[in-house]
Amino acid sequence: MVRNYRRLPISWVGCKGWARQQLIELSTIFFPASCVACGQDIFKDQSQESRQAGNDIPLCETCRFEVTDLSPRCDCCGLPRPSDTSCPLCQKIAQQLGEEKILWQQIFVLGSYQDLLRESVLAGKRPAGEGLVEALSDLLIERHPAIRDLKLDAVVPVPMHWHKRWERGTNAANTMARKIASRLGVPYRCDIKQRIFTRPQKSLSAKMRPANAFAKFSGVGSQLTGKRVLVVDDVATTGATLSAITRCLLEINARVVYAAVLARTDEAMESEGNH
Ligand SMILES: [Zn+2]
Ligand SMILES: [Zn+2]
Repeated sequence: MVRNYRRLPISWVGCKGWARQQLIELSTIFFPASCVACGQDIFKDQSQESRQAGNDIPLCETCRFEVTDLSPRCDCCGLPRPSDTSCPLCQKIAQQLGEEKILWQQIFVLGSYQDLLRESVLAGKRPAGEGLVEALSDLLIERHPAIRDLKLDAVVPVPMHWHKRWERGTNAANTMARKIASRLGVPYRCDIKQRIFTRPQKSLSAKMRPANAFAKFSGVGSQLTGKRVLVVDDVATTGATLSAITRCLLEINARVVYAAVLARTDEAMESEGNH
């Protein structure tokens, strides 16, 4: 005889939920989750509030603290700036990028490209680091809840030439875009292509980077016409690549473009002083 499970008493349903919760708690004791950055048991230093909030980002609190900005950062150029003042660097950065003004509407940055975040970004450029990139992408959204209010239509990664991707075996920007798109429940799209294999940006001076970056990318199709787009990359130095991608997206008639990176360097400022 088949028992009818559809009409279980509410107390039994509640009991099942409680038992499930106990099993999850037990599994964290016998099989503790490890921090993807340092390998430590996550729950060792995680607060009770954080556990109860059901936080599923596999990063311990020490690493979370180390990779995240504490000081304010300009949401236009992405560089650190004194709080409660207008940014003195935006116009200089735009000039350096060969534009009248910075093209993206707003940039979201997890932290400065140094110490643990730098090591994590470099580790994320290898296939074994994909989990780390995913965790940092989750943390980026957690630290910038405003991203959820942008009413985005698509998340687009900075593309990588197939040859480079084949050499590395992974593309951190792709991993990031997929994760962020899935968290936000919006499509992940690859409407920007890298046309040619040009010299790596890091081998060029800050002045040479905008032209080199713009020469190699192009937008394809009309699927992003009138859309609100978030372009993502693991690291921004001068911002030339992000600016080139933003320009391509605006040329294929994206309505507005936002940018998000895990790490931002202060190189744009420093190089200006050096040249
Ligand atoms: Zn850790
Ligand atoms: Zn600024």
